[in-house]
Amino acid sequence: MFTRNPRGWRFSKLKSDEVAEFRRKANEFGFIPVVTHMPYLPNLSSPRKIIYNKSVKSLSAEMERCADLAIPYVVTHLGSHLGKGVEIGLERIISAVNTAISENVSNEVMLLLENTAGTKNSMGSSFEDVKKILDGIEQKNRVGLCFDTAHAFAAGYDLRTIEAVDETLRRFDRVLGIERLKVIHLNDSKGELGSGRDRHEHIGLGYIGENGFSSFLKHQSVKDLPIILETPIDGRRDETGNIRKVRELSQ
Ligand code: ZN
Ligand code: ZN
Ligand code: ZN
Repeated sequence: MFTRNPRGWRFSKLKSDEVAEFRRKANEFGFIPVVTHMPYLPNLSSPRKIIYNKSVKSLSAEMERCADLAIPYVVTHLGSHLGKGVEIGLERIISAVNTAISENVSNEVMLLLENTAGTKNSMGSSFEDVKKILDGIEQKNRVGLCFDTAHAFAAGYDLRTIEAVDETLRRFDRVLGIERLKVIHLNDSKGELGSGRDRHEHIGLGYIGENGFSSFLKHQSVKDLPIILETPIDGRRDETGNIRKVRELSQ
């Protein structure tokens, strides 16, 4: 979910009655854990000072809002260096995360870094690149990972067969540590393996396919993790249809 409009910079402060109502409903419906996603405009790797500073503020504010709402996880993208190079991007994103965490020392909200599809100039499409970010973070207990299947596939990590899923998750574990993985974004991919295209597809109807998801969902190292679908809604299927498909493929 989003705690605010994800397509703008501006947001209003949470009111105490909204906070109380949210906490009550989250308990009632048993959405545990609740996971928020950062809004789309911030770029935590931006080389442009004004945008960067606004982005860090947004991240810090999101962590604070989540603490108020008793939400444990904030998923964030790793940003784009806009052509200035990975080294500049790395320095920016690491500093952004360290700043936001240091401004939230009094709460326990955990930031989840999401792997990206590898579109031009984007940070964090390979496990090794995500590791470089992790290495620079001071309070490592405040940072975990979110694995997006469509992004990983577009970045070149095969998930189409049981062997491929096993190899990809082994590499994840070797480079990043599977214990850091807290949430799965389950999406099929409209782009081919290694295409670098961030285009989500209904579960099983894209290039990962039903066999891939069936293998992934049953894999020992991810089968008990919370899953979030970010699949399209169109004439072919809606969210209910995708949830049904995930249940079927998990059997
Ligand atoms: Zn995302
Ligand atoms: Zn995602
Ligand atoms: Zn995506």
